[in-house]
Amino acid sequence: MSFLSQGFSSEIVQALTECGYEKLTPVQQQAIPHARRGHDILAHAQTGTGKTAAFSLPIIQQIVDAPKARARGAVRALILAPTRELVAQIANNIENYTQYVDLTVAAVFGGAKMSSQERKLEAGVDILVATPGRLIEHLELGNVKLANLEFLVFDEADRMLDMGFINAIRTIMSSIHSQPQTMLFSATSSPQMNALAQDLLRKPKRIIVNAENSTADTVAHVVYPVDEDRKLELLSELIGRKNWQQVLVFVNYKETANEVVKELKLDGIKAVLCHGDKAQSSRRRALEEFKTGKARVMVATEVAARGLDIQGLPHVVNYDMPFLAEDYVHRIGRTGRAGQQGHAVSFVSREEELTLVQIENLIQHRIKRIQLAGYEPANRDALLQKMHTKPAYRDRQGRTNNANDQGSAERRLRLMKAIKNKSSKTTRLKG
Ligand code: AMP
Repeated sequence: MSFLSQGFSSEIVQALTECGYEKLTPVQQQAIPHARRGHDILAHAQTGTGKTAAFSLPIIQQIVDAPKARARGAVRALILAPTRELVAQIANNIENYTQYVDLTVAAVFGGAKMSSQERKLEAGVDILVATPGRLIEHLELGNVKLANLEFLVFDEADRMLDMGFINAIRTIMSSIHSQPQTMLFSATSSPQMNALAQDLLRKPKRIIVNAENSTADTVAHVVYPVDEDRKLELLSELIGRKNWQQVLVFVNYKETANEVVKELKLDGIKAVLCHGDKAQSSRRRALEEFKTGKARVMVATEVAARGLDIQGLPHVVNYDMPFLAEDYVHRIGRTGRAGQQGHAVSFVSREEELTLVQIENLIQHRIKRIQLAGYEPANRDALLQKMHTKPAYRDRQGRTNNANDQGSAERRLRLMKAIKNKSSKTTRLKG
């Protein structure tokens, strides 16, 4: 299905052709016809499916078809997204799509100067892309007026809920006095998500791309079982041995990110950091270096990398397993995008086996395990054995023979129970 057949004007089609878009992706095929007819939309689609164009192109065309004089602080379309990176990326895409038409777009997000954002808003903008927090600041200062909003989009709505933006969303909704055409996009679904959709949408057309909570078909998933303290070596070895040229590595903590980058550099692998302690400018620079191939690896925490679009990213590594199974879906959404083959690699230590099981249940797919020789995780029985032969443990046993050492005997009993429980829990998981 071509963009021309969807009634987009030749200027827009020309811009899309220059972006390399020839045919509609599945989410675009489903969403665009409904959105062009003015319906509300509830779409379950993960990042990488082409959802930005799915919600923005119909809005762009409708604005172009019905031009209006821009009024001070007025906005015709509002797109809300959870993070600054995602906001910047959406605004950037829209700028590309609208390069041959008369339409203005502005991005507002925290961490950037208010003054330059104020100036843009003052002139009135057709499409405003914003994070909820910064938008509320502008609303409170009277820099922006949403009363007559015509189009409203929630991108990565599940993320916004996870990040606690529900009250911010309510505040924003209370400043809208019109009934905008509303589209809500989310990678995962949950009861809270459905309740929000119920509140915001009028007779929405439901769109599901892939099964809910599933991951792109074009992604090959593998798991490397490995002990926590061998993960650094394994990462370095895989990058070198397999000659991976562009790898996004997810970690759970900023400290781990720093450590991984340091270690990779020691191994001669150029790596950059993307985490919340880094200034916006340095994160942008890191992303640029990674995208252009100057850096081979980008090590990122979840929040910092949320929603990032890195064209044709071949490898995503979960150095740490995410705390929530749903986050796996988000993380690997960065590979296997728009029909390209991707590779999602997860390092799973004994402690992370439970998360792995939850992820497999969620995506309804058993992930292939690869045991790399030399990186076998220590055997559980061997671990227990090691504990028993430790001097501290032996001494403890000795002391319990002392009838007076009641506390020590109780402690030993508790320890034995804990070991037994842990052992049976992990054995169950393995089976
Ligand atoms: P998104 O899910 O919106 O982040 O898009 C994922 C990637 O697919 C981005 O790099 C888009 O530029 C690209 N893309 C979106 N729509 C198309 C299309 N119709 N044809 C080719 N690439 C596309």
